[in-house]
Amino acid sequence: MQISRLRLLGFKSFVEPTELVIEQGLTGVVGPNGCGKSNLLEALRWAMGETSYKSMRGSAMDDVIFAGAQDRPARNTAEVTLFIDNSARLAPAEFNDSDVLEVTRRIEREAGSAYRVNGKDVRARDVRLLFEDAATGARSPALVQQGRIGEIVSATPLERRRVLEDAAGVAGLHSRRHEAELR
Ligand code: ATP
Ligand code: MG
Repeated sequence: MQISRLRLLGFKSFVEPTELVIEQGLTGVVGPNGCGKSNLLEALRWAMGETSYKSMRGSAMDDVIFAGAQDRPARNTAEVTLFIDNSARLAPAEFNDSDVLEVTRRIEREAGSAYRVNGKDVRARDVRLLFEDAATGARSPALVQQGRIGEIVSATPLERRRVLEDAAGVAGLHSRRHEAELR
């Protein structure tokens, strides 16, 4: 699954609409301290369904919304869209009718967030499964946060198995089985 473009509107420090094209191969993000490099990775994880505001370096989910600066008022909404190349048609059946998937998460202050795939409202679960099936997602080992290497080294065998399962792309199957067992 190749993310080909990332669009941010009012997400953290990205108050101006920002769009990044992600080419195939290695991409480096370079810039001075505090310019928003980590915020970009957080935008990726957030759009894939991250539910922990702590891991987004906030104290509430609304903290991803632009909070204002000296000369600019705060915003009331934030939105991130991931454009995914689906030319190989590997997406789950319900989304598999186009070459590009547009996955959008939008949050409104004090009203929570909502997801859309190709403009249609979907549940958080659908987005989570979409990425888990592709062996990626908000919690996937494909996105290595600071401190994570140390966590994996000192993980219990059970925790390490989860990392391996995420990497193998079977996490989506486990989520579905878990849901079925709860019914
Ligand atoms: P470093 O090189 O130090 O790791 P970085 O490029 O990763 O820096 P980030 O941590 O991504 O920088 O960006 C931090 C900046 O984002 C800070 O200036 C912070 O004030 C700003 N920021 C974070 N959340 C918000 C928000 N909700 N509204 C406005 N600005 C925000
Ligand atoms: Mg950083």
